[in-house]
Amino acid sequence: MDEIKNKIRDIADFPEPGILFKDITPLMQSPVLLRQAVELLIAPYRNANITAVAGMEARGFIFGSLAASMLGVGFIPLRKPGKLPHTTHKVEYQLEYGETSLEIHTDAVGENDNILIVDDVLATGGTAKASCELIQLLGGNVVACVFLMELTALNGRSLLTNFNVHSVIQY
Ligand code: 5GP
Repeated sequence: MDEIKNKIRDIADFPEPGILFKDITPLMQSPVLLRQAVELLIAPYRNANITAVAGMEARGFIFGSLAASMLGVGFIPLRKPGKLPHTTHKVEYQLEYGETSLEIHTDAVGENDNILIVDDVLATGGTAKASCELIQLLGGNVVACVFLMELTALNGRSLLTNFNVHSVIQY
């Protein structure tokens, strides 16, 4: 675990002054540790009958695609507005400053699908909550939300009390 932590670096004042950004690009450069990190991410849900993984743009695509591949299931992209080419559903949510939204293709999830939602960081929880709502809008079952890192001071779990939440590293 320490080896994985050592591959996550702090970048001060990114993307705005006052924000300490957790940068995962060094971890991505280590094939062994990247694989270990994703294994720890999905470990509790290996036997949970997951039928697809959903990941949020952009870093959720990296960990989510690897997680999907390791679980032997497909991947569903949850994207920023206007990026998906087919018909979409949208959920709007609050950022620290302002509003944004995430979209999903309307045919991405089936009624009996068991979805694992994957992202790199749980901060305030808004992104993950919107992702859960998109899956539920299409009739899918959210088995859990999993994160490589959880910034515990921001209490993202308080927005996700209806869902199982798992994080590999807590700060
Ligand atoms: P939330 O909606 O929970 O406040 O923010 C989580 C989203 O913002 C995630 O999609 C995550 O990728 C991004 N995010 C927030 N803070 C950080 C950070 O320090 N490092 C990285 N890599 N992503 C972050």
